[in-house]
Amino acid sequence: MKIILLGAPNSGKGTLAGNIKEKYNLIQVSTGDLLRAEVATGSELGKHIHEVQLSGGMVEFETVLDVMNKFLASVPEDKGLLFDGFPRDLKQAEALSKMTKIDAVLLLDVEPDEILRRALGRLTCSSCKAVTNKEYVDSNICPKCGGELVTRADDNEETVRKRIKTYFDSTYPLIEYYERLGMLHKIDAGHTPTYTMEQAVAILSSL
Ligand SMILES: [Zn+2]
Repeated sequence: MKIILLGAPNSGKGTLAGNIKEKYNLIQVSTGDLLRAEVATGSELGKHIHEVQLSGGMVEFETVLDVMNKFLASVPEDKGLLFDGFPRDLKQAEALSKMTKIDAVLLLDVEPDEILRRALGRLTCSSCKAVTNKEYVDSNICPKCGGELVTRADDNEETVRKRIKTYFDSTYPLIEYYERLGMLHKIDAGHTPTYTMEQAVAILSSL
């Protein structure tokens, strides 16, 4: 089973990814992890990636594909994969279609207003960096370590609205692409993580 997860920041994508990965014993595939692993091997490709990253640049499209191809060739064909954060745009999606067969694309569907509400309620612990939400705690004391919970400077309304717009602008062509291929499954992610997971399991069981 090979699945792609699409969802805005604060859509609950990280939580769902963790739950699906565990239940179906999938390998989670993220571009960041693959690039880091390639750098760690010390290969020519890895050295190149490291140089680009040190210069503060974006790793080129072709290089990302090379790394992805290398990874896909290294895992057995029947091993389940969960793509998270890749593909990021239409170009990557078309390239991925040529590399392997994807079984389903799960889209976590949340209203922009709900994303905004969740983002603005986000609290980060200043000591252990744990993330929680104003909905779940009634003081500014971290439940994990007792440190102080603070609102990050970039969790203000203007920045969050920009983040949401960037997400929708880049993801909309992807959604259309997978919808056209009949692979897109929408999940109502505006409620609890449990409800989100129930819908995902129902979709994946019917594949
Ligand atoms: Zn803490």
